[in-house]
Amino acid sequence: MKVLVIGGGAREHALCRSLSQDPAVTELHCAPGNAGIAQVATVHPVDQLDGAQVSALARRLGAELVVVGPEAPLVAGVADAVRAAGIPVFGPSAAAAQLEGSKAFAKDVMAGAGVPTARSYVCTTAEEAAAALDAFGAPYVVKDDGLAAGKGVVVTSDRAEALAHAASCERVVIEEYLDGPEVSLFAITDGTTVLPLQPAQDFKRALDGDEGPNTGGMGAYSPLPWAPAGLVQEVLESVLQPTVDELRRRGTEFSGLLYAGLALTSRGTRVIEFNARFGDPETQVVLARLRTPLAGVLLAAAEGTLDQLEPLRWDEGAAVTVVVASDGYPAAPRTGDPIEGLAEAEADGTAFVLHAGTRAGEDGQVLSAGGRVLSVTATGADLAEARERAYAAVGRISLKGGQHRTDIALKAATA
Ligand code: AMP
Repeated sequence: MKVLVIGGGAREHALCRSLSQDPAVTELHCAPGNAGIAQVATVHPVDQLDGAQVSALARRLGAELVVVGPEAPLVAGVADAVRAAGIPVFGPSAAAAQLEGSKAFAKDVMAGAGVPTARSYVCTTAEEAAAALDAFGAPYVVKDDGLAAGKGVVVTSDRAEALAHAASCERVVIEEYLDGPEVSLFAITDGTTVLPLQPAQDFKRALDGDEGPNTGGMGAYSPLPWAPAGLVQEVLESVLQPTVDELRRRGTEFSGLLYAGLALTSRGTRVIEFNARFGDPETQVVLARLRTPLAGVLLAAAEGTLDQLEPLRWDEGAAVTVVVASDGYPAAPRTGDPIEGLAEAEADGTAFVLHAGTRAGEDGQVLSAGGRVLSVTATGADLAEARERAYAAVGRISLKGGQHRTDIALKAATA
């Protein structure tokens, strides 16, 4: 099978790494890719938001499966363009990707499907926003209705800050605060059949102890030893299947990766948000534990044959990923710094380095090229071992001004 992956972050590196280990994959391509992806796939300089360019590339390569990684190309209709060219594609249509692209649409779908989520108001004026904030009280949750790469959400007890964020957006969703631990649960779906993956937890704040600003994600781990035993089945029945069924009923069938961001509150499981694609960095740990070859699973979703698939097989052990970010991330990341120690980090075979914002410099050098630079990932018999291996590898890497959290999976590993 010839496979083309769209995107160029650590999530796409994780997808490419898994696909490159699948014996069914004969050729692997990625556009635009990055310096790490170039080691396992042929990379192509293409505008990933341009459906015509992507489908032309897929046709030229003879791709038999296109996998769209990030949200922006999905919302821009790249999956539609590839599907229209007659090529199987893993990823929802632009209409279905509105589940992520518009928080107001997501709330409407959840209401129609009877899916438990935070009560909310959609506001377009400062007066409406103020009334909604006061209706729920502190802590306040204000979400930009548009796509914001996970960074458009402000959670604060400062009413003035909440109002200021509302004023900076055209349309906001203001909702009740959900307490309790968060879980990311991914499911692969062909629009009818839903196949949940293993749950993971990510770390959104920049600094240890969940301090500092929200980021795209600073680390993740899987499994969740503290989660209730029946969680995946419960979420399949109360969230994932009803949502997929509701979207199909509305004529916006969703195929691809449905990501449920959940809060396990004292009053039960609630959806915080949906995403229409693999989460970054949770994908790094979930795929590290998946034993079933990936290409066949993604192709079955693209072709509507998931009901014929054997149950997925999983590594019983654990995986941990630690994100190395550049100086100044998330506000003003500095780029162009050389990264050393990449080979050393992987030398003992217990960890692997997935690239996010990197590019090839001269003489085989790798340079930082974005906010999140690397996802250093390790597996182990349990979380403690995976964590130790991931941090040992991080310790061998040097990036000027580079930052990472030191407490990824710490609580879960020592509980
Ligand atoms: P989102 O982009 O909707 O995932 O929001 C980003 C982060 O903000 C989430 O991972 C949560 O940590 C936090 N958050 C979002 N909505 C709520 C809520 N209703 N209550 C508490 N925290 C929230």
